[in-house]
Amino acid sequence: MRIAFFSTKSYDRQSFEEANTAFAHEIGFLEPRLDAVTASLAAGWPAVCAFVNDRLDPATLAVLAEGGTRLVAMRCAGFNNVDLAAAARLGITVVRVPAYSPEAVAEFTIGLMLSLDRKIHRAWARVRENNFSLDGLLGLGLHGRVAGVVGTGRIGALVARALRLGFGCEVLAADQVQNPALVSAGVRYVPTEQLLEQADIITLHCPLTPGTRHLVDAASIARARPGFQLINTSRGALVDADALIDGLKRGLVGGVALDVYEQEGDLFFEDLSNEIIQDDVFQRLLTFPNVLVTGHQAFLTRPALHAIAETTLHSAADFEAGRPLPNRLPALS
Ligand code: NAD
Repeated sequence: MRIAFFSTKSYDRQSFEEANTAFAHEIGFLEPRLDAVTASLAAGWPAVCAFVNDRLDPATLAVLAEGGTRLVAMRCAGFNNVDLAAAARLGITVVRVPAYSPEAVAEFTIGLMLSLDRKIHRAWARVRENNFSLDGLLGLGLHGRVAGVVGTGRIGALVARALRLGFGCEVLAADQVQNPALVSAGVRYVPTEQLLEQADIITLHCPLTPGTRHLVDAASIARARPGFQLINTSRGALVDADALIDGLKRGLVGGVALDVYEQEGDLFFEDLSNEIIQDDVFQRLLTFPNVLVTGHQAFLTRPALHAIAETTLHSAADFEAGRPLPNRLPALS
């Protein structure tokens, strides 16, 4: 299959070229992000491979369809950036990689949680300046604290398990589907509102949907335990960043670690070190000593990239051969 690959980074090219030796697809690696303007680059390519910050809205999909694209392969789990109804109308099949390495994201989440609480990021910077003072580095620890896990699917379940069995937290969980293994491990399912009110540490692992957008907002921050810590490795728009800044300024929020940010599409995955960042909300977030931000890297491990490439190329081969597509996304209307 001929696949036009958008938002290419060196690590994508390497993992896909390695995995493609078993498939022999023709891959055109393109650097631009996919949107309604760049979509014309895919004219004549029956398949397009896209990532989390590509914009697959009706306008982009219409240009792709006009150029003959019939398959969109998302090389990620989330698909909130794809208009599935428009894709269906235009006769474009959409596949994704539902589970490539939930361990990668879960491990990174725990890493952020520990770094934030024990201020490892600040200690690292200090020691490089020969500043060995411990002032301001006091942590609260994880053991015995109440952790709230919103969404106990593939990633959230691993996080909940590690927090409960590994670190001895009291773990509250919120999900419409209960995981019996977690319940047996002592995780307690409660309504989301109760979790947000009672947890010392809140970690988000539910998908971004109209119902979960700004799940953490001014109202939930006002009702939360004063000084709670928030970790978000799921999707940026689960959190209202303006409300977060207000909560941080008022001391209601004790610390925040974000791997995702609502407007990250304008920033993440690029080297902007010589640019003036125009996003004042993002810049304000970076000024807090108790905010730790990473650029959507929770997925970035070697096994995860390998699994992403293999599953994506497999889906393309199945599509070309007319075989069933287990990772096809339903055409939501
Ligand atoms: P999953 O589908 O296995 O689990 C999601 C869980 O959330 C499900 O159990 C679902 O029932 C639950 N859920 C849905 N709506 C909810 C709600 N309103 N309240 C509470 N729970 C709700 O997904 P996953 O593989 O565990 O991934 C979780 C999220 O992590 C994805 O949606 C994706 O956005 C994000 N992600 C981020 C990275 C990264 O690099 N930062 C990588 C992969 C995935």
